[in-house]
Amino acid sequence: DADVLDDPRVTPMMRQYLEIKAANPDCLLFYRMGDFYELFFEDAEAASRALGITLTVRGKHLGRDIPMCGVPLHTADDYLQRLIAGGFRVAVCEQLEDPSEARKRGSKSVVQRDVVRLVTPGTLTEERLLDSSRNNFLAALGRVKGAGGDELALAWADISTGEFRLMAVTAGELPAALARVAPGELLVSDALYDSPEYRQALREAKTSVTPLPSAMFDSTAAERRLLSFFAVASLDGFGDLSRADVAAAGALVAYVDRTQKGGRPPLRPPRPEPSGAVVSIDPATRANLELTQTLSGERKGSLLWALDRTVTSAGARELAKRLSAPLTDLKEITRRLDAVGHLVEAREMRASLREALKAAPDLARSRARLALMRGGPRDLACVRDGVVAAGELATILAVGGLPAALEEISARLGALSDELRGALATALVERPPLNRRDGNFIADGYRPELDEARALRDESRQVVAGLQATYQDRTGVRSLKVKHNNVLGYFVEVTAQHEAKMRAEPLSGEFFHRQSLANQIRFSTNELADLEGRIASAADRAMALENEIFDTLCHAIAEEGERLDAAGEALGELDVLCSLAEIAAERDFVRPEVQDGIAFDIEGGRHPVVEQALEAERSGPFVANDCVLGPADGQDAGRLLVITGPNMGGKSTFLRQNALIALLAQAGSFVPARRARIGIVDRLFSRVGAADDLARGRSTFMVEMVETAAILNQAGPRSLVILDEIGRGTATFDGLSIAWAAIEHLHEVNRCRSLFATHFHELTALAETLPRVFNATLRVKEWQGDVVFLHEVVSGTADRSYGVQVARLAGLPEAVLSRAKEVLERLEDTERKSGAAGLVSDLPLFAVHLAREAKPAPAAKDDALRLRMRDLAPDDMTPRDALAALYELKRLA
Ligand code: ADP
Repeated sequence: DADVLDDPRVTPMMRQYLEIKAANPDCLLFYRMGDFYELFFEDAEAASRALGITLTVRGKHLGRDIPMCGVPLHTADDYLQRLIAGGFRVAVCEQLEDPSEARKRGSKSVVQRDVVRLVTPGTLTEERLLDSSRNNFLAALGRVKGAGGDELALAWADISTGEFRLMAVTAGELPAALARVAPGELLVSDALYDSPEYRQALREAKTSVTPLPSAMFDSTAAERRLLSFFAVASLDGFGDLSRADVAAAGALVAYVDRTQKGGRPPLRPPRPEPSGAVVSIDPATRANLELTQTLSGERKGSLLWALDRTVTSAGARELAKRLSAPLTDLKEITRRLDAVGHLVEAREMRASLREALKAAPDLARSRARLALMRGGPRDLACVRDGVVAAGELATILAVGGLPAALEEISARLGALSDELRGALATALVERPPLNRRDGNFIADGYRPELDEARALRDESRQVVAGLQATYQDRTGVRSLKVKHNNVLGYFVEVTAQHEAKMRAEPLSGEFFHRQSLANQIRFSTNELADLEGRIASAADRAMALENEIFDTLCHAIAEEGERLDAAGEALGELDVLCSLAEIAAERDFVRPEVQDGIAFDIEGGRHPVVEQALEAERSGPFVANDCVLGPADGQDAGRLLVITGPNMGGKSTFLRQNALIALLAQAGSFVPARRARIGIVDRLFSRVGAADDLARGRSTFMVEMVETAAILNQAGPRSLVILDEIGRGTATFDGLSIAWAAIEHLHEVNRCRSLFATHFHELTALAETLPRVFNATLRVKEWQGDVVFLHEVVSGTADRSYGVQVARLAGLPEAVLSRAKEVLERLEDTERKSGAAGLVSDLPLFAVHLAREAKPAPAAKDDALRLRMRDLAPDDMTPRDALAALYELKRLA
């Protein structure tokens, strides 16, 4: 605080440090000292713990040792990455002038320093800090309170590629939206962060949440910020933005400004996504279907992994996004499928496109680094190679008669100016170094002055190299060497035995003693000093010229920015389309017939991931299976398939494969099937797997019921629902009853296309009374007392569950197995006499049940309202709390 800063014992440097630290209290401060970033006090303690580096002390502050640790400049990115991954934010504080400048001001002067950038999980741009195959999104949640409840919008942007998008969400859809975008960092207002209704969603979003002052989300200020950021007079050109959209986008831009300290990433104007444009997939379903990562968090084994044949980073990122967000718009899906279809057929074109794509670097990320003044010569080369690749691709695509999506990609790729291509191609050496300070990235012959300076530098170096022989002759010391280091510059070195001779007349007139080491003695000469000066000034001049050319090229790239960004996106899209065509050809996928309505007819469907896994293990071919869920003639609702069969029979695989086929089709991909006709699915629900959620203090059964409740409450006529083994987590009769009622509800109320796998054989009886319920089972053969799984889905019911046989396969002791058989026979016998088989004929129909319940059905909301009211403690509330509670109750009502 101010008192400390006035204390005369505080050194000027420490005063500077404390001031900068006070301005960035929530960040670790990387304080630049020469070739290191140093951290002090608590920062040093935290960083040394997180990074496992040594904690030392540097000087004293108010009489006490200052804890310190440091990371070298050239490996700072690695440390940064680990700190960010560990949940820290880092303020990078640089020296803003050469130390000699400070010395000129007086001996007590400190080098000027300031924070040039905050590094947070959502604002990374360095190659080393990023995964090239994934976007790293920064998201912001905007909220505008209205009479009808909160209006919410999610904005998300990747400052390392410039993509910027927006969508309206409801509080209910928020978890699905966050799971889809999977931002690296989510910005919310303080008020929203503290409000109980969003606590759960924020906690469950697997991202780092950063609360910001609510003023940053104020929609009027946000609008002003957007106008100035994009240098436009009105936001109308961006589409129809709601106030929540503007609040979210404006806060995001403000945060970018705040963290980049004026550096301006090449963000494109935010593109609003119409609501319902993509299939809504709740987080549990998304996780269970392992779209982009497996349940254990790996890419390997996911749908993305099985399908990815992209050859560029932009393509890999685009594919991940497409698989994460399958579309619901028939026109757009068809447009993508047309393009993939064309590339499946045009094999030669596909091969040459993929060959040319392989040479295309990560144009978008290099461009973003250059725009942020964080780029190096290698980024220039990336842009060069990207521009060249774009040109080649455009040439390959210049054949006419292409489907619209490819025509449009071709136009974007072909729009780049030859001027920029020419400038970059002639200016840069083939493989430039990473950093500007390494020099020698501009090609010979590009700029005569640069060639001159380099020639001067190199000639002088040659003269120096020649001096060694001259000096050896002149001194008679054969082992004499001319060397260079950063402290002495050029010097002459001889071994100690020659010291006397060198220091005596006549040699001492020419060779001045500089340094004595244990075994070597070092001298310099006027001639060397002179050459040194000439080399240094020529090198400085060369460096200055190279830097000047660098800046000119950056400027040219910025001028071409919009077209470059468009070409970069086109590259990624083309790579995805080629990749989808490649996998379709490679694995015999078929073009799905996607249509409006609720058809669902898969012939010979396969699970794309399991199929590849089986091949890799050489464990036999995958058995293709049909699945019909669309309505029969004259009906207006989907079917519900009840699937029974032994464990390990292939039930889960079948369930998932049909969900995946629908998602793939709507993402614009061909599908693993012989034929597929799919009416567009708007929401996908699943209840599969039984991952315990102990962290949230919920049992398996509770999780299962919460998820099932969500499905029964929300699934509509265009939804696809897959349910695996519900009711397993509780006692038999409980479980059976719940499963039974759930099927009736799905059939009568939700009326959606559904797959229901179960081990309750009793449920198959429902097919007799409910017209759109059908039974299917997985075929099994018994052979010499063992079971053989045929993995074949046939209509009908499983006659037995083969649990004992499966247990034998698992290696249960023979004694246990035979005893189990005995018990089973006894139980089956009892059941035949009394059991649930008789249920069907006795139970009144669910429809009757529904009618009996006074309409409207008892709304769950009533209970929530009552529960919330019961929790209120009026005596402990401030008037403000009370008002907030009143609003909440109103919303629940
Ligand atoms: P369930 O859900 O009935 O217990 P799974 O779907 O988990 O069975 O399948 C068990 C194993 O059987 C899978 O891991 C896979 O190796 C194999 N499998 C499943 N379906 C097929 C199929 N259609 N063709 C070949 N193998 C299959």
